[in-house]
Amino acid sequence: MTKIRIIAGVALVAAAVLTTGAVAFQAPGASRQATSFKRAQASTWGEVFARPGPIQVETLDTGVVHFPKELLLNGDHPAMDGFEDDGSPLRVFAHLVRHEERGDVLVDSGLDDVYATEPLGHMRGVGRLVMGWLGLSFSQRPGQGVHAQLRKANAEVSAIYFTHLHSDHATALPTFEHSLPLYTGATELDDLGHRLNHGLVDDARVLRELDFSNAATLEPLGPAIDLYQDGSFWAISTPGHTVGHVSYLVNGPGGPVLLTGDACHMRWGFENGVAPSGATSETTAQAQVTLDRIRAFSERYPEVEIVLGHQRMERHD
Ligand SMILES: [Zn+2]
Repeated sequence: MTKIRIIAGVALVAAAVLTTGAVAFQAPGASRQATSFKRAQASTWGEVFARPGPIQVETLDTGVVHFPKELLLNGDHPAMDGFEDDGSPLRVFAHLVRHEERGDVLVDSGLDDVYATEPLGHMRGVGRLVMGWLGLSFSQRPGQGVHAQLRKANAEVSAIYFTHLHSDHATALPTFEHSLPLYTGATELDDLGHRLNHGLVDDARVLRELDFSNAATLEPLGPAIDLYQDGSFWAISTPGHTVGHVSYLVNGPGGPVLLTGDACHMRWGFENGVAPSGATSETTAQAQVTLDRIRAFSERYPEVEIVLGHQRMERHD
């Protein structure tokens, strides 16, 4: 059934592209700014964790994304033979990161309250058609939207740092002010999964693309940027699921927290070492290297809380 759906979905994309004049593949108009940071001084995560900064993170659960789990995983991995959907929901998170001096920012936008009544919300055009066909929809309880939760937390968001720009991570973006600074990895605007939903980042937006070329390498994760220059908030290059995918680490007095984004969507993938699917076999292989690094990091630094892209490590449902 799944394979039939994928084939039908691909056929639908092809048909839709032909009949809509390739609207999904128009060059996105949002402008890009390469954004560099001073190279971090620390050379190990142990050094970083010894000096937490005045920061904390609260993960806001803004709803559920319904999608066949097996389509999110590397289908060629041998462990997939043992895959069984445990029925656990896939949450859509927005992470509220609060720094005593730098104020509040979000990692990913979560869902706004349109999803309480509209299962495909802001999704438009070809992406809406294809993703709906593949089984994507969102659901949300009243009051669970990101803005209601930010008001409740008395938060004033001054920037959004994205793990990537797929619809389930950037979907509330149209409801945020145009003046809000937005950060992503490089090339995320070119990602096919994003371009199918190109309406989420409109032409008036400016994307600040995190430049990892001068970043320190902190093993076993790899290139890492000390965003606030005080060791409290880190962007980590975790390519594969998308080419410019970024994970974030919050290093506060409550203990370090790694927000993997879709470098790993769910517990089953983390526990069984099965990476997310990338757009091609090459990027899926890259996603596998990234997941192996994250698992090695978690083993070496068990004090780090890992929050996966759509699930926490402990089952709460
Ligand atoms: Zn996702």
